[in-house]
Parts: sequence; C-alpha cells; structure tokens
Amino acid sequence: MSPADARGRWQDRYAASLMGVFGPPQQMLVSGRGCRVRDAEGRELLDMLGGIAVNALGHAHPALTEGLAEQMRRLGHVSNLFTTEEQLVLAERLLEVSDLPEGSRVFFANSGSEANEAALKAVLRHRQDTGRSRILALTGGFHGRTVGALSLTHKPAFRDPFGPLVDGVEFLPPHDLDALTEAMGAGDVAGIFLEPIQGEAGVVPLDPGYLGAVRRLTRDHGALMILDEVQTGIGRTGDWFRFQGAARRAGEDLTPDYLTVAKGLGSGVPVGAMIAAGTQNSARLAAGQHGTTFGGGPLAAAAGRITMETIEADGLLENARTVGARLADGLRTLDGVTEVRQFGLHLGVDVAADARGLVAVARDHGLIINAVGERTLRLAPPLILTAAEADEFLERFAPVLASAAPADPDHRPEGP
Ligand SMILES: *Cc1c(COP(=O)(O)O)cnc(C)c1O
Repeated sequence: MSPADARGRWQDRYAASLMGVFGPPQQMLVSGRGCRVRDAEGRELLDMLGGIAVNALGHAHPALTEGLAEQMRRLGHVSNLFTTEEQLVLAERLLEVSDLPEGSRVFFANSGSEANEAALKAVLRHRQDTGRSRILALTGGFHGRTVGALSLTHKPAFRDPFGPLVDGVEFLPPHDLDALTEAMGAGDVAGIFLEPIQGEAGVVPLDPGYLGAVRRLTRDHGALMILDEVQTGIGRTGDWFRFQGAARRAGEDLTPDYLTVAKGLGSGVPVGAMIAAGTQNSARLAAGQHGTTFGGGPLAAAAGRITMETIEADGLLENARTVGARLADGLRTLDGVTEVRQFGLHLGVDVAADARGLVAVARDHGLIINAVGERTLRLAPPLILTAAEADEFLERFAPVLASAAPADPDHRPEGP
C-alpha cells in the first residue's frame, strides 16, 4: 500500500467516525520522543507547537512515563471524597511558586475551560453578594469553549451560533484606559477576566502598566481580577507565571484574585487548576457550591508534580528564556518575518506570507508550527527545547519562508 493510500484510509475513517468540529486533521501521529514526533508515514517532525503549549516536557519524557506508570500501579483514581499525597503535594507546590498571599487555596479541574468556569462561579457569587451586575473581559480574549468560559471569549464566530450566554458580560478593548476607568467607575463591575498575553489572538501581550491599572481600579472599586494563565502559566514565559514577570517590569503588585492554569501543568495529562488568592477569595465558593469527579485525581496530580519538579530540577525556566531568545533573534534575521513577540518559549511571529500556507509548507520540511491569524504564527515548543534544536528549526524554517507565495508588498519586513 502506498503512503497516499494509507493517508486516504485514516482520513476517511476520521471523517466517518469523528465530529467535524476541528476540521480535517493535518496528519496522524504515532509516536514521539523529546521534541520530535513521528507520523503514520514514518516521517519525523520537529514539534515547535508542543500540543499547543501543553507538552512542557516534550514527548515520552522518562520522568513522566515512569512516574505515571508507577502511580497507576499504586492508585489511579479515588474521587474527591478522599485525598491523596499527590494532590496535597501539587496544591502546595502551586501555592509556593505563585507567591500568593496567606490563605490562598487551590481548586483542581481537568482543563482550562473548567478552571475558568470555577473562576466565573466565584465571580457570580461575588455578583450575588454585592449586587454588582457587570462582568468584563477583553476583545481578542480567549477563555475556553464551555458555556461559561465561552461567555468570556470574545470571538463572534465562537459565540454567535449559541445565542444568549451568561448575562452581563461586556468586552473592552485592551489598553483603553478611558474605557476601563469609565466601566470601573460605575461601581457595578463584579470582575474582569484577562490573559496577560493573549495567546489565541497571536501571542499579544498586555502592557504591564495596563495590568497595573486593572489591578488598582479593581481594588478601588471592589471588583475581582481574574488572570487566565492557562496558556502562559507553568514556565511557558520563563517565569512560573507571566504576571510575575509583568509585575517586575511594571514595578507594582499584579497579584490577581483568581489565577487559572491548565495547558502545560500536566505535560499532556489533563490537569487544570484555579488558585484563589488570600482567605476571602478562597472562601467564596462554599462547601457544596462547586465540584468535579476527576479533578485533582492522583494520576493527574502526579503528572503536575512531575512536570513542576522537572521544570525546577532541569532549569527549564532559564532554558525557556535563553532558547526562546535565541529563536527570536534568529527569526528576526529571516526574510519574510515582520515582527516577533517572544516571552520565554511563547512566540508570536508575524510573517509577510499567508500563515496557514506556511504551516503546510513547514510540515513538508519536517516542522510542526501553528497559525493564529492570517499573518501570524505561534510557536510554543516543549520547555526542554535545546539550543541545537532551535538552530535546526531556524535552518529548516528559512527555506519554508523563501518558498512561500510572493509577499504582499504591504507586509514587507522593515529594513535594517
Ligand atoms: C486553551 C485555553 C483555554 C481553554 O482551555 P481548554 O483546556 O481547551 O478548555 C482557556 N484560556 C486560555 C488562555 C487558553 O489558552
């Protein structure tokens, strides 16, 4: 059977058995190791997307495969009627690295959307307690696809097919201080959700000064600030959390009321968490007011613990900073790259050519990359990416850009 026949078969099987919400998959993958995966046709690809900022430790990391096998042999699931050492250790570790005030507490979920659902329920409790009716989020923001999280997600194509969602949500343009001040000044805002770097919008950072203004205004007006670090958390940007790096730059405290994480936390095993800052926020959801069957189970918690331990033991925060900077420097020298936004190993790369077209060409050059806009690529490789792998990517990516459709003259890179 020729490779083309094999491809037809899995594509047909996919179309005949899976719901079409994701569109046709690019390839069928069969195995992976480190930053490389192998497809059904036996080709090896350098994975510069890491399962969309999920596979922090790459593929088949020995600490994770052995640790999870060992955990499964001992205890795989117990329900939240019980606790386990794994759950306690991961919660304690999250509280340690997040620098949140005394009295902070963790709620475990299974995904980013669910972590944000928990935060939204906390905001709804605050709304009921105070009579503050409005909830704010930002245009360009993405918080997930479940109905609550979708209510906070701006993109009309995602929301409009579903009619009215959670009521009272309004969207502000990022960096519009007048709009923010006016909205907060009315005194009827229960909370605001924001990503410190808008991932799905193209790795677009919020200015640390703007985050500072949000923090001050929410404090002054009794509104809650929820930072969605589902994509940026757990080392992706070279800090455990982006708000910590942004706070250093802003020179002010950006401690949120609630912090949500997921993607990179389990290195591929689904784990999400909401962290409530301080005693009052931690008590907002009372016993019986929220829950989950799977969240915080021993297998998922072990994945989180192993991921965080390995990030620490192997210096992966530092690695994300240095290898990320090396990637950005290299990308900026390439013809056809118009702008690079780099935060650790979280990169938005604006290109002169059609970004989706480049993804397909890159695949033929043995690279997995991702388009998040017509002219924007996203790179979110494993945090274990080496300098040599970054160089290999740059070497293979230059001809990808060169072979792209002629650039639109409006999108020429700036001269030297
Ligand atoms: C991916 C993502 C989500 C949703 O996470 P899921 O695990 O897909 O539910 C929410 N917020 C941000 C910022 C994300 O990047």
